[in-house]
Amino acid sequence: MPEKVIPIRPAPAFREAGASAPKAPRYAGGAFADTLGRSLRDLRISVTDRCNFRCVYCMPRDVFDEHYTFLPHSSLLSFEEIAKISRVFVGLGVEKIRLTGGEPLVRRDLERLIAMLSELGVDLTLTTNGSLLAKKARALKAAGLKRITVSLDSLDDATFKAMNDADFPVAKVLEGIEAAAAAGLAPIKINMVVKRGVNDTHVLDMARHFRGTGHIVRFIEFMDVGSTNGWRMDDVIPSAEIVRRISAEFPLVQADPDYRGEVAERWRYADGSGEIGVISSVTQAFCRDCNRLRLSTEGAMYTCLFGQSGHDLRTLLRSGASDDDLRDEIVAVWRARGDRYSEIRTAETARASKVEMSYIGG
Ligand code: SAM
Ligand code: SF4
Ligand code: SF4
Repeated sequence: MPEKVIPIRPAPAFREAGASAPKAPRYAGGAFADTLGRSLRDLRISVTDRCNFRCVYCMPRDVFDEHYTFLPHSSLLSFEEIAKISRVFVGLGVEKIRLTGGEPLVRRDLERLIAMLSELGVDLTLTTNGSLLAKKARALKAAGLKRITVSLDSLDDATFKAMNDADFPVAKVLEGIEAAAAAGLAPIKINMVVKRGVNDTHVLDMARHFRGTGHIVRFIEFMDVGSTNGWRMDDVIPSAEIVRRISAEFPLVQADPDYRGEVAERWRYADGSGEIGVISSVTQAFCRDCNRLRLSTEGAMYTCLFGQSGHDLRTLLRSGASDDDLRDEIVAVWRARGDRYSEIRTAETARASKVEMSYIGG
């Protein structure tokens, strides 16, 4: 039997009780950038490290089993803490907030958080596995959510169940997508992680199914996030190949990005029946324009999806820090940032310990 891999939840540098935080230099206002000239625009917040799926590429069941210890509720940022810190981020120029996890819809009363964040006037969205969406779509919309991304890796039940490893059927996710559309959450994006030999033969089916619906399927290269998903370069289907395969049946033309730093490369169907996206983190790194910061479930900032450690904000938050103190800390961390993991990825870095995606959010 292969040795069991223990996922890291890299000590997010939580300070010893009673120890005071080193003071970040005062931020005097105005534009600020990281060491590679990138600004901070996009905040992803993980609201829980728990999930009702065990996707093989994210939370493999042999690791995230009944012995795995998830975070205790007291470690999670409260909705009030998330709202407070989000307001500070928005004041610093963040224009987009995505709630994620884990599975965000398993966090109780998430609508309450959405209502709080919707007051910030930013592009507010959420990524979900869709399992609870049929039940929650209307309440999410009513709380102020504008749009949504739903993950779905295949339309074939056997393949999908093998990938989510929770015996969850395709039909239920499709029901969730319909409920989201009926509730007016638009546009709906559908994320499909493509793994060679597992679901790559279903790419065309997926494109065919959602073509003409207004929903945008985004094909994602299987990534070496975390250290438990057994990633190998051989399992990655390059996005260029996906575009070639779809284009052979439904000709595609490349479209301009909606904004600088957009993760997905956009392709339109030449006959006007909609568009798809491809996310090529492995074969075409997009670090140069990466303007994203992730806030982990317990309030640590990660300036890269492939980070090995985070920067604690929770201690500051819980020690009565002012908005100015939080701002100074965030700006200091961002200014020191030099992340460009996807540009320097090698087989060796892929094997290194990295934070799990379910902990910092995808
Ligand atoms: N549970 C929610 C979901 O699945 O949509 C939100 C969290 S999940 C970590 C966010 C996104 O990351 C999903 O679309 C998922 O498919 C994607 N993802 C997870 N592991 C991945 C990997 N190893 N490579 C590429 N994408 C991955
Ligand atoms: Fe859960 Fe999403 Fe990870 Fe799948 S990808 S295990 S649904 S957090
Ligand atoms: Fe951004 Fe890190 Fe991904 Fe590069 S590897 S695009 S820096 S999150």
